[in-house]
Amino acid sequence: MAEMLPLPALHASHSGCWLRDGQGNTRPVGKGDAIVAAADTPLLLLNAPLIASRLGYPDLSGLDLLELFAFIHPARFVVPTPKGLAHALGLPEPEDDGAVPALLQQAAEALLSRCEASAWAEREGAWSALQNLTRLRWTWAPLLAARIVQPQQAERWLFARLPEWEEAPERPQPAQVTLDPEAVAARLTQLTGEGAEARPAQRAYALEAAQVFAPRRREGLPHLLLAQAGTGTGKTLGYLAPASLWAQESGGTVWVSTYTKALQRQLRRESRRAWGERRADGTPPVVVRKGRENYLCLLNLEDALQGGFTGRAAILAQLVARWASYSQDGDMIGGDLPGWLGTLFRQRGVAALTDRRGECVYAGCPHYRKCFIERAARASAQADLVIANHALVMVNAARGRDAAQRPTRLVFDEGHHVFEAADSTFAAALTGAEAIELRRWVIGPERGSKGRRRGLAARLADVASYDEAGGKAVAAARHAAEALPGDGWLQRVGEGAPSGPLEELLAAVRATVYARDESGGQEAGYGLETEAAQLDGAFVERAGAAQAALADLRAPLIRLGVRLEAIMAEPPDWLDGTGRARIEGARHSLAWRIDLIAAWEALLERLGGPADPEFVDWLAVERAEAREFDIGIHRRWLDPMKPFARTVLEGAHGAMLTSATLRDGNDWDAAVVRSGAPHLGLTPRLSSFESPFDYAAQAEVLIVTDVPKGDVAALAGAYGRLIEASGGGVLGLFTAIRRLRAVHGRIADRLARSGLPLYAQHVDPIDTGTLVDIFRDDPRASLLGTDALRDGVDVPGDSLRLVVMEQVPWPKPSILHRARRLAGGGTAFDDRIIRLRLAQAFGRLIRSGQDRGKFVVLSAAFPSRLLAAFPPGTPVTRLTLEEALQRVGSGALGKPVQHERHP
Ligand code: SF4
Repeated sequence: MAEMLPLPALHASHSGCWLRDGQGNTRPVGKGDAIVAAADTPLLLLNAPLIASRLGYPDLSGLDLLELFAFIHPARFVVPTPKGLAHALGLPEPEDDGAVPALLQQAAEALLSRCEASAWAEREGAWSALQNLTRLRWTWAPLLAARIVQPQQAERWLFARLPEWEEAPERPQPAQVTLDPEAVAARLTQLTGEGAEARPAQRAYALEAAQVFAPRRREGLPHLLLAQAGTGTGKTLGYLAPASLWAQESGGTVWVSTYTKALQRQLRRESRRAWGERRADGTPPVVVRKGRENYLCLLNLEDALQGGFTGRAAILAQLVARWASYSQDGDMIGGDLPGWLGTLFRQRGVAALTDRRGECVYAGCPHYRKCFIERAARASAQADLVIANHALVMVNAARGRDAAQRPTRLVFDEGHHVFEAADSTFAAALTGAEAIELRRWVIGPERGSKGRRRGLAARLADVASYDEAGGKAVAAARHAAEALPGDGWLQRVGEGAPSGPLEELLAAVRATVYARDESGGQEAGYGLETEAAQLDGAFVERAGAAQAALADLRAPLIRLGVRLEAIMAEPPDWLDGTGRARIEGARHSLAWRIDLIAAWEALLERLGGPADPEFVDWLAVERAEAREFDIGIHRRWLDPMKPFARTVLEGAHGAMLTSATLRDGNDWDAAVVRSGAPHLGLTPRLSSFESPFDYAAQAEVLIVTDVPKGDVAALAGAYGRLIEASGGGVLGLFTAIRRLRAVHGRIADRLARSGLPLYAQHVDPIDTGTLVDIFRDDPRASLLGTDALRDGVDVPGDSLRLVVMEQVPWPKPSILHRARRLAGGGTAFDDRIIRLRLAQAFGRLIRSGQDRGKFVVLSAAFPSRLLAAFPPGTPVTRLTLEEALQRVGSGALGKPVQHERHP
């Protein structure tokens, strides 16, 4: 038997609480006793916030095994459950909830004794970090101090240890090559492995994908392919085959863009078949590139370590610093930083360590040469394959620093999400939260706030003192920025005491929204909105004043940009390489702020005049659980593929959009429109490849017709019984968080007592990626969630056997949706959206040739016209809940009670 740390341990699940003392006696306890015990003495726990939510006692703290794991094995993966911890440490799985406290004692001892082993791979830096953590009174520090010996040589601190990136010469433009179909097929065989089962559809798909790499015939008109590939076609290797061949023959870079992090991870894995980890010169041929806001900013971390963070957040900063030394690429969101680490500290500490708002000072930063973001940007310029996401590709094209680095050969996987990504990338929003960020960027943080963030004047002090016109421009911008909302704006606006023209406008927005909203969201606590139309004279006047204030700010920023350009053209003697890079960085961030302000002015300009048919504008008060958190005016393109076509497609030589759900049934029309092709007068190549799966034998759709809509008790009852009948393995999808919570609250305890754990987004204090990891790891677990789970979940095998949708996923009737619906064909437009959502949700079920599963929709009136969402051949049955329970319980497939086969 493994040794145990003789400290008391507590476990709480939906089925009860168990306490084990230091002498090895475990007993079930009530919640009250558990809370008293935890308040008395620090207990061993796993995932304190989760235990706290199970006990209904938010202040719970103790010796959290996850924190210890993050210290001892930073950047290592563990599923944060008792079973996951046991696997990670090579301990036997606990047989039931009652055995978990003993496991915690074993795991604690196993982890602590690793610090004493000479083979501890993550020893470097641990002793120094522990000294800091001891000062911060981290609960684990005294226990670790007894096990970690002081190294003989002083440890280098993180910032000295990280390697520097190296500048490399620009790559020449790619050679013009036409791929030989035989060579593409041979490359595919090489990637899938000799002797792998031949997949004719995959081969045909690879040959189609190869077409987009051909030399472009006309400027501004890329090769464009729309390729629908049913699940199981093997599309990833299908496009990586021609992509890797083209990169090899042409010396160019291919970008593959995804929507979900799950696919990015899969691509990173699969790309290893085509490229090694490193080239002979040590550089990586494949680079994952994300938006800046994903990466650790070392300057922010230094700030946090040196007093910027206090209390628990300071402990988080120390654990993040441990991770940074061992991280592959510094990616904090979906990279190798455990997704659960941030939630253990119950605050937005992780986000505050990234570069969220473009505060980077580039070469002015002491860590510039070690910066993870700069390293990724440089590596991607030299890479054969860049794995990115849709938003980054678009932001890069719209305001990238380096035109030479713009992607020219692009594969948009999960291509059905390009529209959504374009929609948010090309949106404009003049809100209080956005405007205060701009104020801080110009003026610096308000008095009393900690941190290194500095205003424009401080960042460009040397320029201001050297160049008089530049100095005056900085001073004028600083003065003009006083008109923007300042700290406390939300409260002032809410109380009807706004200060300055922008806050006055926001107050008018708020008043108008409350006066007009008829969505029913007021009582439900949701966000509120109203069209930006029929606004009265007083409102328009305020908009005019705000617009003038913004113009007053933009003018000196433009003047400053001109001065910086002049300085760069004739650099003074004192301006060294670092100074030049810093000014370059400042010019870049100035340029996009100037664009931002211009977009806001345009938005305000139109409020008094006629509507612009290209855009949809509305006023909104953002709320969560009835608490306001932002107020503002929003603008979206009616068709965001227009700016997408101009900024991304036009400059590309070849692009493809691919997905299992690109088309609507057999109809390509909407997919072509949603590719942006018509805006360039382009006719894309269209191809489709059927899934090799036998849906008739592997899956069925059950439409349950007797759960009344709007009856939460009946809905919860149906979910509970379906989960019991299936023995877990259920993914439950909701369109409203409120209903999800209500259902979870009614069934979680009962299911837990039957050994069927139920997890839920928006309920459990666990990030979505980790929830999916937990679900995947336990075939008896079930997971409830909303949109993000509809197509972010890739769980092949036994863990996912049943998908249950609470109702037909109607689009939210927002102002934006109404405008697009009107332009897109009314009901037909809605139907397309619903079919796409159903197809995505169904797509979670069958991920491999061996998967079996059922798809249940709880809908009394499911229109037959939506059935085309499911793959041809899938049996569809309308039946009662009782009948559905029998079918789910029996595990039978393919012999429906009364079956409706769609065309
Ligand atoms: S260069 Fe920018 S992002 Fe990188 S560490 Fe410095 S401030 Fe942060």
